[in-house]
Amino acid sequence: QPKTKSVSGFLRERLNDDILDMLRRIGRVADAHGFSAYVVGGFVRDLFLYRHNEDIDIVIEGNGIEFARAFARKEGARVNAYDKFGTAVIIFADGFKIDVASARMEYYKFPAALPTVEMSSIKLDLFRRDFTINTLAIFLNPDKFGRLIDFFGGMRDMKEKAIRILHNLSFVEDPTRVFRAIRFEKRFDFSIGKLTAGLIHNAVKMDFFKRLSGRRVFSELRHILEEQNPIPALVRLEDFGLLKVIDPSIRMNKALRQMLDSARNVLSWYVLLYRPEECRQWIVYFLVLTRHADQEKAQAICRHFELAPRHEKIFIQERAEAETCLYRLSQGLPDKNSRLYEELNGLRMELILYMMAVTSRDDVRRAISFYVTDLKDIRISVKGKDLQKMGLSPSPLFGRILRTLLREKLDGRLQTRHDELELARRLIDGRETAG
Ligand code: ATP
Repeated sequence: QPKTKSVSGFLRERLNDDILDMLRRIGRVADAHGFSAYVVGGFVRDLFLYRHNEDIDIVIEGNGIEFARAFARKEGARVNAYDKFGTAVIIFADGFKIDVASARMEYYKFPAALPTVEMSSIKLDLFRRDFTINTLAIFLNPDKFGRLIDFFGGMRDMKEKAIRILHNLSFVEDPTRVFRAIRFEKRFDFSIGKLTAGLIHNAVKMDFFKRLSGRRVFSELRHILEEQNPIPALVRLEDFGLLKVIDPSIRMNKALRQMLDSARNVLSWYVLLYRPEECRQWIVYFLVLTRHADQEKAQAICRHFELAPRHEKIFIQERAEAETCLYRLSQGLPDKNSRLYEELNGLRMELILYMMAVTSRDDVRRAISFYVTDLKDIRISVKGKDLQKMGLSPSPLFGRILRTLLREKLDGRLQTRHDELELARRLIDGRETAG
């Protein structure tokens, strides 16, 4: 029997009124349709861990799609329904989303070796999940709003700070859970339970991962690389002998460890300086992780992981450009800002940060950071139409003049718009040659 205590006071304390009211309304609509509604999974886990999480996952005992449609109608929201899975997403006008699933017996397929037992449908739904801490649910119908449902010892493991699977065949059923276990362990600063750790060692020994498509492995790896600090999880992957799933020749040696730490410093420097959404940290870390690979091997890794062509291009061509650029810079730093700008200008930010992370030369790193902070965003105010007003008709000369102006500005020889216009005038008059 599950422990069922009420946490409604805790909900009131922890949630803002909008979310709390929303949960109550969900319970009322479900109730009116004769269904039971639960909020489940990461939302409940993070509630008890005092971590912000507004990803609401609802499980309906009954017809989740019917519920979603009824609820959305009342709230003036849209629904995307997936009949095949009995799931739906409710999308509000402001973009807020709620995921809805149906708990029904027939959706669960036991692994062949597990005994079939009877369970209520919510219990079955929760039993399919990865770790005990993700199996907590809160009942939302009005009569018992706020009742905590804990079938599998989720609260005990929250208190013990333990990541534990629900049954011994969990990793057989889905080996990607190994990566998830490590990710959660490091994110929450928990420990993987003894039995669970043993089963991970077993999964590695028996190479369960070869059954997985590269795409699925990569998706988990990418989740890890998107964690606030992915390095402890990468170290843990190595401890379990799992970095080899990325590529057999990756070693967490001192050099790689240093580059990863450096990537982390560079990323937080950049994120503090600018807005985070400009730069995908997983790309920077993945570039660092695969730095040892030559073109051919990098190609093979990308193919194996089924990376999108736009990502493959970053890891192959753009990386090669960045490495060439890094080599040139280490041979001698440019003596002018405009030269430094021209070296780095074509490279996207992820590659720039990669270069800063992997170079062993402080002077090179400083030059690149100077480009990021002081040069990258410099623009001239003179436009093509200003040149036209000066009587010049469109021609390749336009581009040359504008490039000359930018160069002069980068090198500190133009301060105001007036300076720019004056130089443009002189260039047009042919008193100076535009090159
Ligand atoms: P995150 O905070 O990284 O988004 P999460 O647990 O909140 O993690 P998801 O990874 O989207 O969110 O997973 C949602 C729920 O689905 C989890 O609570 C988990 O129980 C379940 N789940 C996800 N992947 C698996 C899996 N491979 N096996 C079993 N259950 C899974």
